[in-house]
Amino acid sequence: MIKLDSKGLFIIISGPSGVGKGTICQSLIANNPQIKLSVSATTREKRKGEINGVNYYFLTKEAFEKDIAKGEFLEYAIVHNNEYYGTPKSFVLSELQNGHDIILEIDINGALQIKKQFPNALFIFIMPPTIEELKSRLLKRGTESKEKLVDRFKNAYKEINEIDKYNYVVVNDDLNHAIKKVQAIIDAEKCKVSRIEELDLNTVEEEIHEIIVELKK
Ligand code: ADP
Ligand code: 5GP
Repeated sequence: MIKLDSKGLFIIISGPSGVGKGTICQSLIANNPQIKLSVSATTREKRKGEINGVNYYFLTKEAFEKDIAKGEFLEYAIVHNNEYYGTPKSFVLSELQNGHDIILEIDINGALQIKKQFPNALFIFIMPPTIEELKSRLLKRGTESKEKLVDRFKNAYKEINEIDKYNYVVVNDDLNHAIKKVQAIIDAEKCKVSRIEELDLNTVEEEIHEIIVELKK
């Protein structure tokens, strides 16, 4: 009687560095086997413990620019002053076509490029409870030098300033609450009337008519 859009949901998650995007996304993936995370390419340095092809595809600037020229990215941007970050196109498009939901964890410039191409994608912004808490999470993570932290804070303002480009905002105060909220947003999005691909109203009408006739007997 009713068929919902079988293509996957395209989910874009943004928010300042250190707000908890990665932590939230890992939990969503662990709890939803149909959700796949797109692995971005970047020219930034690999952090201790990061694995090429798992956390990012770590590329040289030359290799990244070659891939740009070949049209390999769905979107790309220069983030934190001087590093390229981009979403490889082929994985995302084939997974969406296969009915998987895809999450991109990207910055505002990338999100705007995706919005142009996929206006129906779901855009979620993750906010820190306070800027002080953001600082303490970044310091505790301990992955950036002081200089890199300054770049991240400059970027945090730029990102928060564009919050009105997103559909939803979730404050990541208590982690479990935030994960539940993002999950609820995704679940609700999947139930949107706009995702109806096929609704056989004639059959609905006929069946209702038959029931009315039967009830009137
Ligand atoms: P992002 O991917 O946005 O840069 P991460 O997911 O790496 O951020 O999180 C940054 C740090 O904050 C990590 O050390 C993570 O464990 C921690 N963190 C994430 N969410 C919370 C939270 N709700 N409360 C406290 N610490 C958190
Ligand atoms: P980090 O260097 O901390 O891993 O990531 C820094 C920021 O880069 C993230 O907060 C995220 O917003 C952004 N980012 C990561 N991957 C991509 C991508 O593929 N495209 C764009 N535009 N931004 C990305």
